[in-house]
Amino acid sequence: LLRLTGIRKSFGTAEVLRGIDLDVAEGDVVALIGASGSGKSTLLRVINLLERVDDGQVLLRGEDISDPRVKPDAVRARIGVVFQHFNLFPHLSVLDNVTLASRHVLRRDRAESEARALELLGRIGLAEHARSYPDRLSGGQQQRVAIVRAIATDPDLLLLDEITSALDPELVGDVLALVRDLATAGTTIVMATHEMAFARDVADRVVFLDRGVIAEEGTPDEVFRRPREQRTREFLARFS
Ligand code: ATP
Ligand code: MG
Repeated sequence: LLRLTGIRKSFGTAEVLRGIDLDVAEGDVVALIGASGSGKSTLLRVINLLERVDDGQVLLRGEDISDPRVKPDAVRARIGVVFQHFNLFPHLSVLDNVTLASRHVLRRDRAESEARALELLGRIGLAEHARSYPDRLSGGQQQRVAIVRAIATDPDLLLLDEITSALDPELVGDVLALVRDLATAGTTIVMATHEMAFARDVADRVVFLDRGVIAEEGTPDEVFRRPREQRTREFLARFS
């Protein structure tokens, strides 16, 4: 579904991604782990075309979306993304937030978009908040709305960047439960996370980034229980 080949990205003189090759199959859940600054967010931003690669290719269903001629908006309807900080539009209702891309990028009509949005909001128990504004919701509810908004266009792929890091601990569980449900339902997910227990539980594959290169990858069992690389062991030791 997604293939990255030889991805390189520098900011000024700092090379942040130093040749990343990664394949993500349909239905895979891939957890990106690694120290702060290792390049996890940059890699997700490159996939979503928020950053342009210096070298290498991003292939989505075989199409090179890193080609400069490809329009980012068209790609973004096919790749849902949720960041650490809630990125709901404060001046739009929950329902309008969820239907925005569906109506304006996919050009589905309002009734169809809203029916789908209400169904998704119903699944997370927030249908009765459809007409509320985001500031009336808790952080955890807002983050779940952000996830629902990201999947409202039925994207090929969902990117999640530390989506629970800014939440109070008691709100994390509901958000992770939603991600788990999506994973179980077959959504293809690439998520940067510091939640090692969650990565271990939900991911099919764990990718350990170290200073812009993939230092190790494997099943959660391989990476967490039998890491081959010394640097993986050192990184994981911080969480035990
Ligand atoms: P964290 O776990 O803290 O979120 P990360 O693995 O997501 O870290 P990135 O955010 O990808 O790391 O950052 C990798 C490096 O790239 C860092 O040194 C960061 O300062 C640098 N960087 C990221 N974005 C930019 C930018 N737009 N301009 C300059 N430097 C940047
Ligand atoms: Mg990051």
